[in-house]
Amino acid sequence: MKKIFYTKPSITDLEARYAMDAVQHGWGEKCYEYIYKFEAAFKQHLNVKHAIATSSCTGAMHMGLAALGIGAGDEVILADINWIASAAPITYLGARPVFVDVLPDTWCLDPVQVQKAITSRTKAIIAVHLYGNSCDMDALLMIGAKRGIPVVEDAAEAIGSVYHGKRAGSIGTFGTFSFHGTKTVTTGEGGMFVTNDDAVYEKVLTLSNHGRARGQMKQFWPDMVGFKYKMSNLQAAIGCAQMERVDELIAAKRRIFAYYASQLKGFPLAMNPEPEGTVNGFWMPSIVINEGVRFDREALLAAFKADNIDGRVFFWPLSLLPMFDKKPANVVSYGLYQRALNLPTYYDLSDEDMQRVVLKIKGFF
Ligand SMILES: *Cc1c(COP(=O)(O)O)cnc(C)c1O
Repeated sequence: MKKIFYTKPSITDLEARYAMDAVQHGWGEKCYEYIYKFEAAFKQHLNVKHAIATSSCTGAMHMGLAALGIGAGDEVILADINWIASAAPITYLGARPVFVDVLPDTWCLDPVQVQKAITSRTKAIIAVHLYGNSCDMDALLMIGAKRGIPVVEDAAEAIGSVYHGKRAGSIGTFGTFSFHGTKTVTTGEGGMFVTNDDAVYEKVLTLSNHGRARGQMKQFWPDMVGFKYKMSNLQAAIGCAQMERVDELIAAKRRIFAYYASQLKGFPLAMNPEPEGTVNGFWMPSIVINEGVRFDREALLAAFKADNIDGRVFFWPLSLLPMFDKKPANVVSYGLYQRALNLPTYYDLSDEDMQRVVLKIKGFF
């Protein structure tokens, strides 16, 4: 049986052509050309003022939080169900991630729990649009505004997602993206920092250049200790090709989700929601089996594996990991992950491929 991957990128001749051009010609005075082009294309797609290409989303988040002045003893609120990359940069700065529960339908931050978790040390709220699902940004921004706390977005999984007319990542104080090989737009490894805030942009620009301010004319003269999280021109060349195809890449994600959703209708499970006023980029189609239905996640994954299908478990609550304190009071998070998994999704996935996945799931009920 043909292997069905969990996910993989869509790389065409266009990506290969740009990468070849970058490796052959993208040096000397042209060494930033594809980086600037990629940033410009991304800004245009997202409709934001500023974008800085980075080596990863983790790096972009690290610099963004540093630019907000977050440091030792500070607290940053984020959802318990998450990938570690959203939480790790908080700890790099000596601050503490505060994991709060998620909503049962969006699997994203519960604004009521966010409000309860705010203390005098809270310095930011990170809204992670999990698997493409939009956070309740209106509620989060209102809470943030009331308490003077910036709301930032980790939109690594939300290319193609739109909330009340704005693209995910363009709504908060800043947004971060990932172009890891598993993401909707890829450069192999890579990320992007975006913001509409001029002051935040200038700070991150300086931080991203090893602390050398834009106006500093003295060579090799950093004014502060910064970071080195730059993207290479080579990776940016691939990114430029991906941005020319971004609508097509998003459409494929949506086609795949729609197929699974239509095939699994009527079964006792929930999938990624797309509430009124939002568009879901459906980075990762996920199923959550209804509570009370007998379900053995490992057995279904084993059935996938037997048919050469690569399924993936839902993210764990981060508070379950050994380096953090347990938070079983986050009952939604602790109840979700055992009943949930991600289905394969990539550009080249055919209806026949998906039918194999669907049959395994149906066979389970
Ligand atoms: C993939 C991902 C990241 C990490 O991105 P890197 O580019 O690997 O640093 C961060 N946050 C979320 C929500 C992700 O899914």
